[in-house]
Amino acid sequence: MQQAQDFMKSVFENFTIELFDERVCREWILNKLHPEGAFCPGCGEPILSERCLQNFWNLKRVFCKDCKKIFTSLTGTVLNGIQVDIRALFGMAVFLQLGVDRKVIAKLLKIHPETIRLWEMKFKAWEAMGKENTNDGAEAHKSL
Ligand SMILES: [Zn+2]
Repeated sequence: MQQAQDFMKSVFENFTIELFDERVCREWILNKLHPEGAFCPGCGEPILSERCLQNFWNLKRVFCKDCKKIFTSLTGTVLNGIQVDIRALFGMAVFLQLGVDRKVIAKLLKIHPETIRLWEMKFKAWEAMGKENTNDGAEAHKSL
């Protein structure tokens, strides 16, 4: 049996984003990106077909019948061109909020520290956008 005193250290050392549920992270983030629902970023028409909606919320490509644009639920958002697993992004936000050193986060998530710095900037830009456009910033967040 594993020694109890090693438990927390062992959990920390074996941390992986695989421990996060991809669907839960993705849905949470996409709902945050699209609080009003699914719309075409090209013409602004709502996405109505069941199949297109399914693709939209699954990060797959959607074709707009109205303007012929092909896009995903990340097109035109702050997360456009995301190169990292959405779970890593979720973890990054949690760890940054906890004040964990970028180098430690980089090691935990197996991402370059520079990538984390860039995402931190994106998150902050996103938060600033939210404050301008909506009252989203006030919801459920305690100020630092
Ligand atoms: Zn369109």
